Amino acid sequence: MRYATLAQAYGKLEATTKRLEMTDILVALFREVPKEEIDKVVYLTQGRVFPDYAGIELGLAEKLAIRGIARATARPDEAIGAAWKASGDLGLVAEEQLRARTQTTLSSEPLTIETVYASLKEIATTAGTGSQERKLQLLADLLNDATPEEARYLARTVVGKMRLGVADMTIVDALAATHATKEDRDRVERAYNVSSDLGEVAAVLARDGLDGLGALHLGRGRPIRAMLAERLETLEEVLERLGECALEYKYDGLRVQAHVGPDRIQLFSRQLEDITGQFPEIVAGLRDALRAKEAIVEGEAVPVDANTGEFLPFQEVSRRRGRKTDVDRMAQDFPVTLFAFDCLLLEGEDLTTRGYRDRRGALERILRETDGVRLATMRTVRELLDAESFFDEALQKGCEGLMAKSLDSTYDAGARGYQWIKFKKEYSAEMSDTIDLVVVGAFAGRGRRAGTYGALLMAAYDAETDVFRTTCKLGTGFDDATLFGLPERLRPHAREERHARVESKLTPDTWFEPAVVLEVRGAELTVSPVHTCARDAVRPGAGLAVRFPRFTGRWRDDKRPEDATSQKELLGMYAGQLKAVRKAA
Ligand code: AMP
Repeated sequence: MRYATLAQAYGKLEATTKRLEMTDILVALFREVPKEEIDKVVYLTQGRVFPDYAGIELGLAEKLAIRGIARATARPDEAIGAAWKASGDLGLVAEEQLRARTQTTLSSEPLTIETVYASLKEIATTAGTGSQERKLQLLADLLNDATPEEARYLARTVVGKMRLGVADMTIVDALAATHATKEDRDRVERAYNVSSDLGEVAAVLARDGLDGLGALHLGRGRPIRAMLAERLETLEEVLERLGECALEYKYDGLRVQAHVGPDRIQLFSRQLEDITGQFPEIVAGLRDALRAKEAIVEGEAVPVDANTGEFLPFQEVSRRRGRKTDVDRMAQDFPVTLFAFDCLLLEGEDLTTRGYRDRRGALERILRETDGVRLATMRTVRELLDAESFFDEALQKGCEGLMAKSLDSTYDAGARGYQWIKFKKEYSAEMSDTIDLVVVGAFAGRGRRAGTYGALLMAAYDAETDVFRTTCKLGTGFDDATLFGLPERLRPHAREERHARVESKLTPDTWFEPAVVLEVRGAELTVSPVHTCARDAVRPGAGLAVRFPRFTGRWRDDKRPEDATSQKELLGMYAGQLKAVRKAA
């Protein structure tokens, strides 16, 4: 089939924003495409040459594409570069330049889908010495044979900016309408959600019809689209909807789908990118923890502070995209723990059509917990009181809230529904200002911090009762000299017992009389059942905690402990910022 047919359809797609019209245009197109070429047409319409998870993107550098257009039209690079600066759309630039081309090329042949696809594939995969020149020539050759309209889409495709506005689900609609009836759409979608490969779904449909879809199995190496959760505002509503259900901690990290085989482990992100290289410690952890030859396991990866045992903000690991040495260093400094919450495939058997209990049972059977891989903490509940106390426990452990799961729900790939319901902590507010807190205790350091403290217990001042109440554990922001100087510096204030003016639910290894004030920057204020600051003011039984506190490096020797940030100020910051958050929303 000619590429021109595709380009024409793209022209029509670009001219509308209505999903139904897009579907009709696609159906008309798909009907014309020969069976053997439908997968390629689908990928090209998605603006790619492979399914997402293959990790092979076109995304040619714009500079190189400019040179390709210049070469094909025998114009100077600068002229093309200037035209691109003016319009910002390389597709339009290529189209205009081809229209303005005076001499037609001698060897020009009409472009076919096969030749275009083969060239784009080579552009995407060529690597090593001489690859830039090869890519440049491939693009120039394509443009050389292209009509102006084709050039528009070729140029956009190679730089990875198709801009057709066609969602994957619109392609699903069109495939269902082409090869079956609209009523069969769900089966087509399910095949896509399980395989994450629309090209393959199209090829199977074209070749074997709807019945062929049954052969598209969940398989190792090919990620399944993630099941998503709805949200509810109260635990009452959650229980009303689900009745007796499983509650799991909701960890605040990165969702990871691990495909484990006898000789290979691959990790995929929620966007189905291959992220194996970024988390060597998860790969190693799974080798130790899993007692299965073959499995697909899902979980949330969270960085854990080796000293405080508390979770760290996810930013600490989201920067792991650089060179291998950097990744290895990050994996050592901020190792992540994978909290596994689902098992989708076990020894060749697809478990996604089984209920939650079965899948959780399988997970518990095959997982031997290690430091690097743990089971997501789960409790089955029926009563509101149990749900609330489990929620408090989750917050105390530093989680964002809970995930409620219907006990017999299947794993609905790609779907957002009430089978899974997220319930997050109600109140949290960002902190824009630093605060000054008083050191009232310290926890002994471990590992690299042996001999000094792993974290300090920090408190705010309540002037009304003249008491210091705890609001966070502070373990980050210290340089080595300060860190190892802490015991010496705090020794004059050390005490065997808790000071009478300190109120704390936590028991540190060393207590201090309230004397030393440190400047702290936090990410946000949250409600926490572990800390005593502003206890009961926002929620019965819970206080206010500073999340992700960090020492700014400033010792507030100019402040007496009674001059530290007060409980009242923290409450004010909390209320004020909540208002700001509400307004912004
Ligand atoms: P959200 O990103 O707020 O829509 O919440 C959904 C995300 O929470 C999922 O995509 C997971 O990455 C994450 N998550 C954390 N803990 C769990 C859990 N126990 N079960 C399922 N998802 C979880």
